[in-house]
Amino acid sequence: MPNEEILNQANDEASLEAALDQLDRAAELTGIDEAVHLKLRKPKRVMTVSIPTQMDDGSFEVFTGYRVQHNMDRGPCKGGLRYHPDITLDDVIALSMRMTWKCAVVNIPYGGARGGVVCNPKEMSRHELERMTRRYTTELVEVIGPEKDIQAPDVYTDAQVMAWIMDTYSMQKGYSVPAVVTGKPIALGGSRGREAATGRGCVYIIKAAMRRFGMDMSEATFAVQGFGNVGSWAARLLDELGSRLVAVSDSQGGCYNPDGISATELLAHKNESGTVADFPDADRISHDELFEVDCDLLIPAALGSAINQTNASKIKAKIIAEAANSPTTPGAQVILNERDIIVIPDIIANAGGVVVSYFEWVQGLQAFFWSESEVNKQLEQIMVRALDRVWDKAEQHDCDLRCAAMGVAVGCVAEAVQMRGIYP
Ligand code: NAD
Repeated sequence: MPNEEILNQANDEASLEAALDQLDRAAELTGIDEAVHLKLRKPKRVMTVSIPTQMDDGSFEVFTGYRVQHNMDRGPCKGGLRYHPDITLDDVIALSMRMTWKCAVVNIPYGGARGGVVCNPKEMSRHELERMTRRYTTELVEVIGPEKDIQAPDVYTDAQVMAWIMDTYSMQKGYSVPAVVTGKPIALGGSRGREAATGRGCVYIIKAAMRRFGMDMSEATFAVQGFGNVGSWAARLLDELGSRLVAVSDSQGGCYNPDGISATELLAHKNESGTVADFPDADRISHDELFEVDCDLLIPAALGSAINQTNASKIKAKIIAEAANSPTTPGAQVILNERDIIVIPDIIANAGGVVVSYFEWVQGLQAFFWSESEVNKQLEQIMVRALDRVWDKAEQHDCDLRCAAMGVAVGCVAEAVQMRGIYP
């Protein structure tokens, strides 16, 4: 694709056009069969359900819910459930496709799915959310399940929502089925290590990439944009490995200290004051300045499109690890490629969460629960293998890691489709 076209293309993770375009380019790179390519351009199953829900004042609202199962050739579908007033069916289809690639690139035996309910959870009571969730689950009871489709928390859904889904499904089956969802509370069969998993997985990937580069972790400096779950875990774990945190930002601004910031102290400060921006042992910096600081590694862990054509030319880091979903716009990727900055793409860099969700499902099916160190050991193996595969692919095709990751993922799913054959 010519550069201007890439520059004009929005990199919205929920854009169906962008998702199809990514698939088409990966299909070309890997040379997959045309029939398989056509099959993968469409979701396997799209469900739209009406969810009549009694509100607390006695009135009824009928919400619209979606569940899209993109592919099941490598195993059951896996993907989050989102509650949002603006979600559309096309968004859900795009997100379901991205889940197929994310599961494939780390080689866990799932296809991709995604769900959404068009609602404003901020304006609903807990009881209203519970009734809506239970009715949504009941409408889908025949098409979800541990062997069919496993849901997980996403935007504005959490462990409590997963517990309601698990309970509703189990009541209809007549026995407890913990493996119907992941991201459950530990008391219901949630996995140890899940909370840290995305940040931890990202750090395992960074470690493996630095090894490939011959970079010494204990001499590396890094900056993190976004100090929530993923960013703060990644920062604390890198800190433990001896890397030096020099800059951090959150929604209210950032802080900078070239001599190093203790991630643990910074988190304690954020928990108390609400922001990292006024951390006493550092200078205050703006959102934009965070991207310009001198460091070896930059971790965007906040929102989509954070790295764009405005700031890509000012980034000094040698490696960018995309902890957030779609933080780099296609235009920025072109600039970063020209500047030889390595971008480890989101589908591997933040796949640690779905990998530990997979462990939660396995533990639920076996009714045998692992220690946190077992979870972390298995996570590291999967993440490092994934990075190796993607790195080799990039070298083989002389392309960037994003292109290679999509090539690995699409190639892996296409091989499964081809081996099974297109029924009948
Ligand atoms: P979170 O809500 O816990 O944290 C987000 C952080 O970003 C907060 O500290 C917030 O203050 C900060 N932020 C918001 N706007 C900012 C801005 N303009 N500049 C700097 N910081 C800003 O969310 P999270 O769970 O840590 O997720 C972060 C990203 O990682 C999201 O893109 C999410 O989709 C992605 N992700 C998360 C998981 C997971 O397991 N939590 C898994 C895969 C991908």
